[in-house]
Amino acid sequence: MKRFLIAAALVAVAVGLVVGLRRWIHHAQLELVPVLVMPGADAHAVVDPPPSAIATRMMLDARELVTRPSRPRLAVLTFDDGPYPVETPALADELARLHVPADFFLIGRDALQQPAIAHRLASSGNETGNHSMTHPEMSTLAYDAQRAEIDAGAVAVNATTGQRVAYFRPPHGNYDENTIKAALDLGETVALWNDDPGDWRTLSPDAIAKLAADQARAPVVILLHDGKDATIDALPAIVAEFRSAGYRFVTLSELQKDVPVDEINDPIRVSL
Ligand SMILES: [Zn+2]
Repeated sequence: MKRFLIAAALVAVAVGLVVGLRRWIHHAQLELVPVLVMPGADAHAVVDPPPSAIATRMMLDARELVTRPSRPRLAVLTFDDGPYPVETPALADELARLHVPADFFLIGRDALQQPAIAHRLASSGNETGNHSMTHPEMSTLAYDAQRAEIDAGAVAVNATTGQRVAYFRPPHGNYDENTIKAALDLGETVALWNDDPGDWRTLSPDAIAKLAADQARAPVVILLHDGKDATIDALPAIVAEFRSAGYRFVTLSELQKDVPVDEINDPIRVSL
């Protein structure tokens, strides 16, 4: 009986170790999803990190349990889609009222339909980025078609805003190795996020603000969407909560000026 209990205890410990290790590996893989992928990066390694990268990330996770690295409390609000004739001016008005700049990832086709609104976004302290020409599921397309989408999107956004696109964000957050490669080949940085309150679902403004706060990081890049009244209504609470925790709102390129990319891609969790 005693030997049986010892054997059972050993099995339980072994199972616990395997489960713990698998969770640790899974966590490291999630943490490896970058916020920014810079030109020159290895697109394959971004989509399919090699075991050595996962091991390095696991060691960083372990070290951060002991000593938390310091990271600046900078926040970037990013809005995908649009511009739209009614919602985008309302969103821009609310951001101006709150004295917050933002990054707008515009759909090229929509920017060509609303050039005055696209131009207004860029000339009122915001940054405009590229969200493709027609908002397709990028990973269903071959490299050439993806590159054409990204290229045409940038041309449309550049022409309507008068700004030069630096960042590309894939529609639906859907990308593969070719998406990353095509954007980098065109000299655009792929911009993802590290806080997704899921405002594309039908959520109340309070729920959106709470989910954004729950996932707070330093620095934080928050994924939001244009064309959603609930998102506009959530902004005062989001801005107030992050500001009261000491955050300053900046654009992506301002964030990049202040913080090395390695640190942007290795944010720390923060409880607001
Ligand atoms: Zn989108």
